[in-house]
Amino acid sequence: MARLVMKFGGTSVADIDRIRNVACHVKREVEAGHDVAVVVSAMAGKTNELVAWCGAAAPLHDAREYDAVVASGEQVTSGLLAMTLETIGVNARSWQGWQLPIYTSNAHGSARILDINGDELIKRFAERGQVAVISGFQGVHKETGRITTLGRGGSDTSAVAIAAAIRADRCDIYTDVDGIYTTDPRVVPRAHRLDKIAFEEMLEMASLGAKVMQVRSIELGMVHNVRIFVRSSFDRPEDIDPHGTPPGTLICDEAEIMEQQVVSGIAFSKDEAQISIRRVQDKPGVAAAIFGPLAEANINVDMIVQNVSADGATTDLTFTVPAVDYARATDVLTKSREAIGYERIDGATDIAKISVIGIGMRSHAGVAAKAFRALADRQINIRAITTSEIKFSLLIDAAYTELAVRTLHSLYGLDK
Ligand code: ADP
Ligand code: ASP
Ligand code: MG
Repeated sequence: MARLVMKFGGTSVADIDRIRNVACHVKREVEAGHDVAVVVSAMAGKTNELVAWCGAAAPLHDAREYDAVVASGEQVTSGLLAMTLETIGVNARSWQGWQLPIYTSNAHGSARILDINGDELIKRFAERGQVAVISGFQGVHKETGRITTLGRGGSDTSAVAIAAAIRADRCDIYTDVDGIYTTDPRVVPRAHRLDKIAFEEMLEMASLGAKVMQVRSIELGMVHNVRIFVRSSFDRPEDIDPHGTPPGTLICDEAEIMEQQVVSGIAFSKDEAQISIRRVQDKPGVAAAIFGPLAEANINVDMIVQNVSADGATTDLTFTVPAVDYARATDVLTKSREAIGYERIDGATDIAKISVIGIGMRSHAGVAAKAFRALADRQINIRAITTSEIKFSLLIDAAYTELAVRTLHSLYGLDK
């Protein structure tokens, strides 16, 4: 007997038939004798609709009201699943974030989970054999009592945090793919499923664009050592042996992975913009004058590349920001032009960041050099490069994204 968290994403609860299917998955685990907490997302497309309604009602809305609106999608699914479970003879009760409670910071729209009280759930497992159906994505701020949400894709984080709070043996993430692939299988049909991936690699994959899991959920899994298993909700519930090993990917400590590949996966993101500041004065304090105001404006900067000055007086500096912050970032820099001292700003939004990730890179040289040659052979120009211990990222024109990802996927032997 084990204690499980089962999380179902939007496509898995897209309509009443799918919710019935989810209920059968839950029933299977309950009948196998497990204590189960289920975490659900809003029905597919619902959160997008709610977000759009907020924009239509008031383009510059209060973030507290945004949360009041968008948290409602998950409330609907948790209630629907709890009543569906009851109809098939499974004792279940729904829980909203404020009822457990799941306490968060008050950063409305992107709140962080601070504390979850799992005692009541554990008590109900023991006394009543009751399944808890918990709304993902939402929580409550302790002091104000207001509903908060955790940022898009936040139900993954709810699930992992609840798994840590109830000391679950496993956190199963049921989604529309049967695991973590070497890259997005929608873009590269030859991508293959990984049996295991290390937390650190998954953290890089998620941060660098693989939206299959929210970044924060992996951080939490790593800190609390939660075993996260990503699997498909579309497998027929009756075909699954609850004591067997279903297809899926285990996100775990790297020590558990026997055969470490040099490259485990490739992530990409088109949600970036490039900013190049031309002929910046080359003197102490300039980087601070540029990045200070950007940080104050809450703009995340990535991939900073600066040239060594040729004339000793000026240099060029290039970096990327999230595409949604591009206009704000150029505005901030234009306002600080006097303090920084530069000739002009060039920008590009039609760019993509391709990242190659693998723990094996720590002990292998020349991994990135191979990529530069392969992309050059396909006439793909690299605008900027950054590297770290277990990954490197390349900035290229967005038009070449698919070609570059497929090229690198083959180059590192990841094609199935
Ligand atoms: P859910 O609604 O269940 O939370 P998401 O849409 O958030 O599901 O995440 C699943 C999707 O993530 C898949 O359909 C897939 O296209 C995409 N994805 C991106 N990168 C990967 C990857 N490396 N492995 C698996 N899926 C990926
Ligand atoms: N429903 C929320 C979203 O679409 C949270 C989630 O699905 O994880 O972002
Ligand atoms: Mg998701």
